[in-house]
Amino acid sequence: METCWFCETRPADTAASLKVTMRGKELGTRKTGFKEYTTYYDARTIDVPRCATCEANHRTRRRWNFPIGLAFLGPIGIGFVITSLYGPLGTLLDTVIPCGGALIGLGIAVWLGIRLAQRTKGTKHNEGHKAEFPAVKELREQGWSMQ
Ligand SMILES: [Zn+2]
Repeated sequence: METCWFCETRPADTAASLKVTMRGKELGTRKTGFKEYTTYYDARTIDVPRCATCEANHRTRRRWNFPIGLAFLGPIGIGFVITSLYGPLGTLLDTVIPCGGALIGLGIAVWLGIRLAQRTKGTKHNEGHKAEFPAVKELREQGWSMQ
């Protein structure tokens, strides 16, 4: 039985495997309509072994990436919008609003990041680690790309 590529401890679950579609060299172009051409590439799908727990953890991480990014960048953006809409509020406020907002946002982002890391603790690697899977890596070294 294969071991999960992402936690390196639990056995992999076939239903939870991560499919990586690889694109190889161009095979040619075919006319598919009036002035319409489709280019065909050599393609291959690689199953990266993954367990059900890591699949769920990856889903959780994907879901939280955006809110965390928003918490981090949102207040900076809002600060800039406020100062650009209402013009200079006086030197102090122009500094206090964006900086204060950024600090609060940073605090929320760090807190959410810690919570997320605790909740998905059993999974060592993010989905991007699929690029390092031997079969994927080998094809990449031969000039293939991940889809
Ligand atoms: Zn796993």
